[in-house]
Amino acid sequence: MINKIDHLGIAVRSLDEAVPYYEKALGLKCEHREEVPSQKVRTAFFSAGEVHLELLEPTSPESPIAKFLEKNPAGGIHHIAFGVDNVQAQLQQAADAGVRLINDKPFEGAAGKLVAFLHPKSTLGVLTEFCAPKT
Ligand code: ZN
Repeated sequence: MINKIDHLGIAVRSLDEAVPYYEKALGLKCEHREEVPSQKVRTAFFSAGEVHLELLEPTSPESPIAKFLEKNPAGGIHHIAFGVDNVQAQLQQAADAGVRLINDKPFEGAAGKLVAFLHPKSTLGVLTEFCAPKT
C-alpha cells in the first residue's frame, strides 16, 4: 500500500551550488548528505513538512543523473518516491498491471531505505520510486 509521497528526487549539477538555494532562499535545513555508490550520486536531503527533497548530483558520467542532466541541462524534478509498506509487493502489483519495472527487486538506496523504480515509459513519463524503511 502507498502511504504517502516520501520524497521528490531533484537532479542538480552541483550540491555545492544547489544546497545554498534551498537553505538561504527557501529557509530549509539540509538534514543529511550521503554518497550512494550504487546509483553514482551524491545526495542531500531536506524536509518540507512530511515530504523530503532528495537533491541528486552525479559522481560519474555513467550516473543516471548525468544522463538526465544531458537532456535537462538546468536540472529539475527527476522522480517521485512513494512511501510504501512493502516494496516487493508494490512492484508485483505494478507488474501485474502491465507496468515495466527498472528493478524487479528492491535494493538499498540512500538513508538505508529499500527502493525500486518503475520505468518511465510505463508511468506516463514520471519516473516512479517505491521506498520503505529496511526492516
Ligand atoms: Zn529517491
